Amino acid sequence: MKNLIVQKYGGSSVADSIKLKKVAEKVSGRIKKNFKLVVVVSAMGKTTDNLIKLSKEVSNNPVPRELDMLLTTGEQVSASLLAIALNDIGIKSKSLNAFQAEILTTGDFNQARIKNLKIKKIRNLLKEFDALIITGFQGITEEGEITTLGRGGSDTSAVALAAALGAKCEIYSDVAGIYSTDPRLHPAAKKLKYITYDEMLEMSSLGAKVLHSRSVEIAKKYGITIYCGSTFSDEEGSFVMKKNIEQPVVSGLSVMDNQTQVTLSNLPLDFTLVHQIFEKVAKEGLNVDMISIISNSGLNISFTVIEDKKTHVSKALSQILKGMKGFNIDYSSGYSKISIVGIGMKSSSGVASQYFMALKDIPVKLVTTSEIKISCLVEEKYKDKAVKSLISTFEL
Ligand code: ADP
Ligand code: ASP
Ligand code: MG
Repeated sequence: MKNLIVQKYGGSSVADSIKLKKVAEKVSGRIKKNFKLVVVVSAMGKTTDNLIKLSKEVSNNPVPRELDMLLTTGEQVSASLLAIALNDIGIKSKSLNAFQAEILTTGDFNQARIKNLKIKKIRNLLKEFDALIITGFQGITEEGEITTLGRGGSDTSAVALAAALGAKCEIYSDVAGIYSTDPRLHPAAKKLKYITYDEMLEMSSLGAKVLHSRSVEIAKKYGITIYCGSTFSDEEGSFVMKKNIEQPVVSGLSVMDNQTQVTLSNLPLDFTLVHQIFEKVAKEGLNVDMISIISNSGLNISFTVIEDKKTHVSKALSQILKGMKGFNIDYSSGYSKISIVGIGMKSSSGVASQYFMALKDIPVKLVTTSEIKISCLVEEKYKDKAVKSLISTFEL
């Protein structure tokens, strides 16, 4: 369809009725320029956080299916309100939840993945309506169960819809694009005009919540350029795309707090144990990161998980290591992972040396690298110092 745009507005953009009306005006402005819009919305403001809090008031361990039933209500409120506001200003629009829009996902409650989008209905409705407002973050399974895509998942709903509909994709939030680092924490951060999929993927999975990392995976797979801009200003935003015309060595820095380092020391020198440990952890659906294995007189394994999962990991490890003696397990929390990302690292040397020069006064616990990133784990008390030093070294 010609002139079709998928736009996504995040929680802060639809936080109250005044903001919702402003979004409605923005949508209407585009429609008056001869576009048809599919608008994906998140829940209003802190709604999702508050719903999670509420669930924790009735259970320490809410049943995942019921949590999704609860959380998806948030997006239905904002979608219907936006459709009401749009109709009020004369724009023919209709809201659809994931069930009505037929967004099919896997059955992994709280972290489902989109499998299929049936766009025939959306296309037909677009003949009649100028704007369709679709609840982000949610899906349904073949069996009709309601799922969510993981925190921040509305970005993924939007990119998946754009890919399926062959439309442009614009993601609006409270910041005017992608910056070298979180502009709320570092107001001097530089706005990046372009960033590649690979860089953005690293930044998102390393803590930059401005885009859900799955949304970037889908954009990369289908070659969708994502425009990220501000909802309430006309300042030019950023493009997430295949090539970064500017090719900086280091484009950005991300920080992820609440990391726990798990260290197993003095295990017997048996490498099948390494496999067994990581197999068990994977089976439990736990994400491990920053792995280091050192073998001398015994086997020492260290890895990180997010703090929330500490008890879960500890249970899994005790099952695997039951009956074994002579080794130690240590769980140290309160760490932050700081990463620098840049496509130009592939082709330039000396980045690691600059990186460690910047961190020379900071006790680094673990380091991991890929072709386009270097991450280190530091105690939270050193975080600000490390971040400042890296920002200044790499001129971020
Ligand atoms: P929305 O609710 O619109 O989805 P989010 O809160 O999920 O918005 O994401 C936007 C936030 O991401 C910004 O307010 C900013 O604090 C944060 N952020 C973290 N890293 C970056 C970055 N590198 N560039 C831009 N924003 C970032
Ligand atoms: N409302 C959901 C959340 O807060 C989804 C999103 O914002 O993208 O995680
Ligand atoms: Mg978000």
